[in-house]
Amino acid sequence: GKVLVTGANGYIAVWVVKTLLDQGYSVRGTVRRESAIPHLKETFKEYADKLELIVVPDITKDGAFDEAVKGVDAIEHTASPFHMNAKEPDELIIPAVRGTRSVLQSALQFGDRVRRVVITSSTASVLTDDGLPHVFTEADWNDRAVQDIAAQGAAAPPHTIYRASKTLAERAAWQFVEENKEKVQFDVVALNPPYVWGPFLHEVDKPENLNTSVLDWYNTIVKNTRTPEQLVSITSSWVDVRDIALAHALSLQKPEAGGERIIISGGYWTWQDWINAARKYEPSLPAGNTSYDPKSVVYKTRYDASKSERILGITYHSMDESAADIVKQLKEKGWLQ
Ligand code: NDP
Repeated sequence: GKVLVTGANGYIAVWVVKTLLDQGYSVRGTVRRESAIPHLKETFKEYADKLELIVVPDITKDGAFDEAVKGVDAIEHTASPFHMNAKEPDELIIPAVRGTRSVLQSALQFGDRVRRVVITSSTASVLTDDGLPHVFTEADWNDRAVQDIAAQGAAAPPHTIYRASKTLAERAAWQFVEENKEKVQFDVVALNPPYVWGPFLHEVDKPENLNTSVLDWYNTIVKNTRTPEQLVSITSSWVDVRDIALAHALSLQKPEAGGERIIISGGYWTWQDWINAARKYEPSLPAGNTSYDPKSVVYKTRYDASKSERILGITYHSMDESAADIVKQLKEKGWLQ
């Protein structure tokens, strides 16, 4: 089969493209600039006849994907802004929501062969950040972020803007399915990963230009930018990039995934847990908070990933495996100095 991957040059998307190609699919990838194409062609040169790359300059335009969806059997919609530099909410919310609607609308009108659309959502659309410990499930929705944006507008913190963009985009997808249920020839799967970490295949010229999640890891673990207190008090969850990529492929293959949102989470962490894991593979990395006692930590933002195990059959990379592979890559790049 042939799969459309939107935002094909992104951190997660390049792994999605690789996983699909390795599994024998043909892939049509969209990027927003011509200059993103050569690196992808080079990365996947052994699959030259199976990878097609096209430019969709503005995903917010109606009909943006009308040509892109023609002849594909499925869609992986990953393109969406993930950064913490938004000056106002619409900067993220508009591309996130309109991009999602636009790809679904094009699939409805012009994607005669499309049977499944996977939306790369996020646990940003699941969690509620109230400072209390939770084990979130697919029944949870981050409507708090959307309310906060309504109340605070441009004064809202960047992570709230990002979370609202993901909540609104995923809601838009489910609403589209509901509104068009008599007409749609496909079903939708939403995948909800927390922080995604692991080696990268996308084009990055220097560490400062890493994608948001990996840059956060790099700054904390390699550049030692957090206070000792933050290293043991900030907790969240994560998944290896290879596992979320595999989840995208499996979501096309498991009939039961249709109509489901699925949390894809490999575990939870404090930054100090990552430091301790990374230092097993590169002992010269900064030691962080040496008075850390893991037993005293309350891991506040945890997820029940049993649905992913049940429906997709995923087994997750461990923190040690991911840390080893990130450290190995950073070493090879000479970025650990
Ligand atoms: P990247 O920044 O590496 O990739 C984002 C992709 O989306 C790029 O192809 C980018 O294109 C495209 N994009 C961004 N803004 C726009 C826009 N306004 N219009 C069109 N395309 C746009 O991020 P990730 O790979 O990390 O993120 C991919 C998806 O995964 C996103 O939907 C994100 O929300 C989600 N996600 C990521 C997590 C993580 O920890 N990394 C965790 C949970 C979810 P360009 O290169 O041209 O900017």
